[in-house]
Amino acid sequence: MSSHRLVVCASLLLAAAAHAADDSRPGRDPAQPVDEAYTRKIRAYTTEPFFLSPLVDYLPASSSNVPTPQAVIGDIAGAPGKLPYAADVYRYMRMLEAASPRVKVRTIGKTEEGREMIAVAVASERLIAAMDENRDRLGKLADPRTISMDDAEADRLVAASFPVYYVTGTIHSPETGAPTALMELAYRLAVDESPYVRYIRDHVVTLITPVVEVDGRDRQVDVYNWHLAHPGENWPPLVYWGHYVAHDNNRDAMGLTLNLTRNVLGEYLFQKPQVLHDLHESVPFLYDNTIGDGPYNAWLDPILTNEWQMIGWNNVSEMTRFGMPGVFTHGDFDTWSPGYLMFIAASHNGISRLYETFGNAGADTVTRRLSPDQYSRTWYRQNPPLPRVSWSQRNNNNYQQTGLLVSLHYFAENATTFLRNFYLKSKRSIEKPKLEGPAAYVLPADEARPGAQAELLRVLQLQGCEITRASAAFDVQVPAKKKKKDVDDKDKDKSEGKGASETPAAAKTEPRHFPAGSYIVRMDQPYSRIADMLLDYQYWSPDDPQKQPYDDTGWTFGELFGVQVARVSDPAVLAVAAERVRAEVKAASGVEGSGPVLAVNHNTDIGLASLRYRFKDAAFEAAEEPFEAGGVKFARGSFLIRGISAADAGGVAAELGLKVHALAAAPSVKTHPLRAPRVALLHSWLSTQDEGWWRMALDRLKIPYDYISVQTVAATPALRARWDVVVFPPVGRTAAAIVAGMPRWGNALPWKTTALTPNLGKIDSTDDMRPGLGAAGVQNLRDFVAAGGLLIGVMDTAELAVSYGLTHGVALGRAEKLKAPGTIVRARVVDAASPITYGYPDSFSIYTADGPIFSLTSLAGGRSRRRPAEEEKRPTGRGTADDPDLPQGRPFAAPPDEPKADAWEALPLTEEQRRNPIYVIPPAQRPRTVVRYGDSKELLVSGLLEGAGEIAEHPAVVDVPVEKGHVVLFSNNPIWRGETLGSYFLVFNAILNFDQLGAGRTLAAE
Ligand SMILES: [Zn+2]
Repeated sequence: MSSHRLVVCASLLLAAAAHAADDSRPGRDPAQPVDEAYTRKIRAYTTEPFFLSPLVDYLPASSSNVPTPQAVIGDIAGAPGKLPYAADVYRYMRMLEAASPRVKVRTIGKTEEGREMIAVAVASERLIAAMDENRDRLGKLADPRTISMDDAEADRLVAASFPVYYVTGTIHSPETGAPTALMELAYRLAVDESPYVRYIRDHVVTLITPVVEVDGRDRQVDVYNWHLAHPGENWPPLVYWGHYVAHDNNRDAMGLTLNLTRNVLGEYLFQKPQVLHDLHESVPFLYDNTIGDGPYNAWLDPILTNEWQMIGWNNVSEMTRFGMPGVFTHGDFDTWSPGYLMFIAASHNGISRLYETFGNAGADTVTRRLSPDQYSRTWYRQNPPLPRVSWSQRNNNNYQQTGLLVSLHYFAENATTFLRNFYLKSKRSIEKPKLEGPAAYVLPADEARPGAQAELLRVLQLQGCEITRASAAFDVQVPAKKKKKDVDDKDKDKSEGKGASETPAAAKTEPRHFPAGSYIVRMDQPYSRIADMLLDYQYWSPDDPQKQPYDDTGWTFGELFGVQVARVSDPAVLAVAAERVRAEVKAASGVEGSGPVLAVNHNTDIGLASLRYRFKDAAFEAAEEPFEAGGVKFARGSFLIRGISAADAGGVAAELGLKVHALAAAPSVKTHPLRAPRVALLHSWLSTQDEGWWRMALDRLKIPYDYISVQTVAATPALRARWDVVVFPPVGRTAAAIVAGMPRWGNALPWKTTALTPNLGKIDSTDDMRPGLGAAGVQNLRDFVAAGGLLIGVMDTAELAVSYGLTHGVALGRAEKLKAPGTIVRARVVDAASPITYGYPDSFSIYTADGPIFSLTSLAGGRSRRRPAEEEKRPTGRGTADDPDLPQGRPFAAPPDEPKADAWEALPLTEEQRRNPIYVIPPAQRPRTVVRYGDSKELLVSGLLEGAGEIAEHPAVVDVPVEKGHVVLFSNNPIWRGETLGSYFLVFNAILNFDQLGAGRTLAAE
């Protein structure tokens, strides 16, 4: 009781303090001297007075020799021509730390290329000194189980705590302004004695990661310096933003594959901040785009979406009061996909925020001409940006800092509210089973792909989720399977395996048995929301007012990983005897049995591909049929290995999470050699965004490859002598652009390591980025395939192979209504004997993003066709609608059946076509559909799908034999953002069986 009263008093006091703070007007403290020279430059580099605010139109002078950013930049923050490297930014932050007790710098990890990432905390001496104990309190608010969900105790903790506001800069390397803005912001927060800034400093810790994409930042600075050294010339586009991906490094908050995501997530989980605020630069002049537009992510606590509105609108209104044009918060950005870096906070009970300010991709001051949709006045943008403007990096820095200071002040004033919300969101996450549900997700112990299951569970562990494991078998109620009459036979696998998302209203349940050892992801834990977000299904209505989804619309991880995930609403699941899994989840592995022949079941677990390359010189064979040996059932494609000791195999199997069975003798099953071929991964200089995900997958699995560009292909006539397989991931450009490259007028665009550009080159290099694949490259690829090589083309590079005549018998259809913007769809195996499908069930899920629509023909140069025509209608004539049309005056001649084929097959040839069969493709050279898209009705698994009929049943994966080699074409993208592990093996199967792809093929008779 007495403690309760204390809480009330404390919060009253705090409320009073907050009220008093309302008087702290933005603007300098007249008693504190100003750094005159710095301030003069701020004004000089700002192109219009209204691009300044009273918060940034001066720089306070430090009374204790705290250095300004000038100390490392050689000029002020945002100065024209000055773009500091990450190391310079860090050097400055550490100078601040050395000079001021209000600044603390921490290393938060390394990048892929070994560069450091840091987080800088800035607050009053008192707050900085109390950060550890405060973190303990925030930890309790973040996990209310620790205080027995006691609201009174939470109030006490809130009253004693101060919030942490985490800001991250330049995740997108061409968006260059944030580091200098954040350097100056840190200085202001540490030095400025104005009541406004002091209030922030006394009430909130500002945590800053000034550079998120550190590898890309250093390359961007190189490019900018090259530009400064070559006035009047075109400069090389930043083709490698990060080591692997470009813009997509901001789509990794689900899969957590990139170091930058893991490092920021690690800092988030450690510091327990209430906000994660990312700084981007693409929209004039400041778009607070978290409010954006619908649809909002449907798994968020509505408290959060209200917090967006609160902070966002305050931000707009304050900056509008300062007279700064072009500040707004609505817009067409939806907040559906949880892939953005900021979503680490949204999905972990914090607040996600994202600014788009206006950057010049460098530090030049230039005249920018805006488009009408950018400068038009709308209901939410009453003071829009100017249509034409001289814009400087300093302007951008002014907007970034002003927006942040205004937000920080608002956050400090409302600290109690936001801390209470933080607690409440955490508490409601724990109460999920009682509120919206479900109670848990269960990943059964009898999973056919334990490796993929372990990968999925490790992602959840990285996300901070707790995993438990049932110590005994159990039965709980799950949604009843659909009745047979509702379900087409073809739906069987779906309704049995990957339980479709349940409808609470249906409420029809049946018991489901789960074996001992099944994994349970309980929803009564603080980070249940992210698990629910990743494991649930997504539905984006084609009627949604939002017609331009900003990113993927479906991401259901169980489907993409190809593993069973059961959504269980039955609270009984929470009472199942289970133990918390403390260590990293690992699939069961090791060697069973004894004998000289090792057998490994093919279940598409990606570790199998690593295994092949780990024992590169050993003899591996693939079984062409399923078989049973030593009491174990092996799927088609299973590995049979000789010449490796069980001990050697066991060590690697344990590492890769694989089970090896030693057999006394080889089973009697037809086999063929399974190679460890020489792979080239091919990229263009136009973009490396999408291939980066492929490169990362190969690197993680330690599958060796040579990384080559289209220019290497153009210059290498004998590709086949060097490589067996050329993998050409999607480029994100048209086939014509990939062949043409960049225009050849203007100057050469070098991408290489020099004294001026020490960070360029390295991953790959060229004297001139402009030349594309060219006619020579196309011809070399054609020769490579003819000589027995395998070319893998995906989406646009598949289109390239088709439209430049590297294949025959495949035609490209044009989508008219089809809309699959990052959607999970059902795929069906057409030819289970093809090595490409080894290990796959008859039906599985794939990720597609408006991929090409393939049709097959048996005629070279044949055109694409639509789905088979509906049954033919009779013409006007005598008789009834069902009667044949009988011409008068001669006996009736029944017409022959028109050729018919399913959408994934070629039409049968007619006698007419065979008369002089110049264009008839010999049966052994005809394309073979290996996997197709599902039927219209079953096609959508998760996300948005419109116009499904245009791609339903069409081939998804096609194997085209061409002379001695093969071209394998993908309409889907099987390797995407580290999220599609279930489809990786379509690619690996093709690689490992590159010279045996014809296995199991039944040829047409003619
Ligand atoms: Zn961006």
